[in-house]
Amino acid sequence: MHATTSKTPNKSKASFKRLAANQSVWFCADACLKLRPGGTECKACRDACPVQAVRVDAGVVELAPACTGCGQCAAVCPSGALLAEGFDTLLQPLPESEAVPLLRIECSRVPHKLAGKARQLPCLGGISFSALIGLAARNSSAVALVDRGWCATCPSGGGSEPINALVDSVRATLTDIGLPDECSPFVYSLPTPQEQSLPMDVTADNTPLPRRAFFGALLKRTAEAAIAARSPDVARLAVKTTRGALLASPLIHHTRKRMASNLAAIAALTGKPLSAKFFPDISVSEHCLLHGVCAAVCPSGALAIARSGTSAGLHFDPESCLACGLCIRHCPTGALSMSPFGNATALHSRDGKQLNSFIQKDCQMCGKSYVNHGDGDTCPACLGNRNMAQSLFGMSLAESEPTAANLEL
Ligand code: SF4
Ligand code: SF4
Repeated sequence: MHATTSKTPNKSKASFKRLAANQSVWFCADACLKLRPGGTECKACRDACPVQAVRVDAGVVELAPACTGCGQCAAVCPSGALLAEGFDTLLQPLPESEAVPLLRIECSRVPHKLAGKARQLPCLGGISFSALIGLAARNSSAVALVDRGWCATCPSGGGSEPINALVDSVRATLTDIGLPDECSPFVYSLPTPQEQSLPMDVTADNTPLPRRAFFGALLKRTAEAAIAARSPDVARLAVKTTRGALLASPLIHHTRKRMASNLAAIAALTGKPLSAKFFPDISVSEHCLLHGVCAAVCPSGALAIARSGTSAGLHFDPESCLACGLCIRHCPTGALSMSPFGNATALHSRDGKQLNSFIQKDCQMCGKSYVNHGDGDTCPACLGNRNMAQSLFGMSLAESEPTAANLEL
């Protein structure tokens, strides 16, 4: 399962900025759930930072000089709005010539003579769930995160529990889709005297990269996202969908799709179908009037209005849903409900699902197409205008307004 390369979308490249001068964390404000219009109360990056260097407040995400570049903020960011330098190595498949039965991942405080051919990262705590799934999907080697026993005393550490918890949840997911235990990532405990560790302040990876070098690394990440976005299911969705997702961020969409593609690749290899429980589920009640507010605020494009012939309805793509709840919060009729973990007894469909369907009609007054709820032949805008005219000038004037039918005479 090796990724191929492709041209990088310029949008992703243009929208990332260094979060603070001389720091190695980059930020895409458009993709931040907290900063987006009508956004959520997300503060995951702030809560994950081991040195309290991240400030998340109304309209601002800031980084203090205390940042160690461990990448733990980026690892938990649900939308991919943060990137830390030094983690791009996770996204590169091993060249065939370097194929090894066991791919070791070490932190950058391990001296090179001890690390040998291991891939080194600023901090093992900066590995995200989706990056570890991606590693398992892209490499034919098993993956070992080497725990030297230094985390508890490291400024970025806090013990190895978070790393163990991450690996446990990745292993549980991979077991569920049929990957044999011996092929799943694991923590390899290799206690090593603390005196052999490099001090945090001399780790090469904590030196910020020049902008050009950083984007060289970013290219590899976004190339993979572009591949995920070009998967046939997404292409079909784009054809079907004619409106909605007005504020959707391509970065968020690609971040979510990448993990889904990796899970699907592993499932294809093991031959076990993917369960719907790995993805959020959205339901809609009969109160939906297809205003499209949910699709407009959805940051990932998971909800969209799909039109086909004379019908239109909400379409939901669980693979790109963040379970952020914005659609539910903004729905004017309270018609939506969500389960962050979908139906455990159902199989996942990569095509997503049509949530409802309405008949579209041409308004008898303005001629424009609108969603008809079985209440006459006039669109809501014309109906509103007519009602206002009636209340202002009386019935006769409202009735004398030209209609499409009148104009044809
Ligand atoms: S974790 Fe990501 S989405 Fe949430 S506030 Fe931080 S940068 Fe924004
Ligand atoms: S469908 Fe709703 S919960 Fe899912 S990403 Fe879009 S707005 Fe958030």
